[in-house]
Amino acid sequence: KEQPSVCQDCSVGCNVDVFSQRDQILRLTARENLDVNGYFMCDIGRYGFHRYEEIERVTQPMVRNGESFDILNWDKAIEKTADLIKKSNDKTAGIVSPFHTNESNYLMGLMMKDTLGLLPRITGDEITYPSGFRISADRSPNLRGVHDISGKLAEDFSSKIKTKEICGLYILDDGIDRELDDIWKDILENMDFVIVQSYTITELTKLAHIVLPGLAPYEREGTITNDQGRIQWLRPSLPIKGNSKPDWEILMLVRNALYKESEQFVDLGEVIKKMGDQFPKYAGVTLFKIGTHGISLNGKNI
Ligand code: SF4
Repeated sequence: KEQPSVCQDCSVGCNVDVFSQRDQILRLTARENLDVNGYFMCDIGRYGFHRYEEIERVTQPMVRNGESFDILNWDKAIEKTADLIKKSNDKTAGIVSPFHTNESNYLMGLMMKDTLGLLPRITGDEITYPSGFRISADRSPNLRGVHDISGKLAEDFSSKIKTKEICGLYILDDGIDRELDDIWKDILENMDFVIVQSYTITELTKLAHIVLPGLAPYEREGTITNDQGRIQWLRPSLPIKGNSKPDWEILMLVRNALYKESEQFVDLGEVIKKMGDQFPKYAGVTLFKIGTHGISLNGKNI
């Protein structure tokens, strides 16, 4: 199968074609987009998909039982998650992720209102070639989108957690590239509860009380906004594994369990519409209009 999509290994968002067979990526090739990457892509993006091949996947909801986890069905997992958040009396904070789509981050923001933050950025070297082709130091694909649709994010979130007496965290996991520093390990170990939405066993899931299985890169669908303010369509190439669910859907189910009157979105398009109602920059955006080459949101006229 050949699928037009977007590289997720830095904030440039090069356009790519993803070639896959059943549940395996075979190769990525650059796809022409003169507004983003010309005709090029770099080797970080070209070969980056191999690092997802040997990982330990999370494909069932799980709840901590001592040193290990018990498997739960989805109804129980959503109920337990909502119960923990409810019982914390507004003392749960959400952590959004620049590795996730705009829609998932937006729904986390809707649920957690103004108690929202980010983990430290994941960065590498910024490289610009003589041709002008650039690899961004920001090795996440959607930091700009997260800031666009999360309202005001706390600058120094680790300090804010202490001053607001937060006792629980609901985290959208960045995935296999996330490492935790001592400050964050200490914060997580001292929480009453930590809910982590992830596709794999990471330092975060190891410290979680509830793990909700979302989708991995190349399985996800949604929009991401590159560092030049261009919104692009991330399309899935691989089938969903086990009992995992799309991340936006998990967040919607938890929100529905918390707030009985909240919307039940039937698809991504409805989430994008709601996002546009709240954030004018994203008004009028649809997957159809984004198409294969994206839309610049700078002074846009959609
Ligand atoms: S420059 Fe960034 S987005 Fe483009 S291929 Fe390389 S890692 Fe991927």
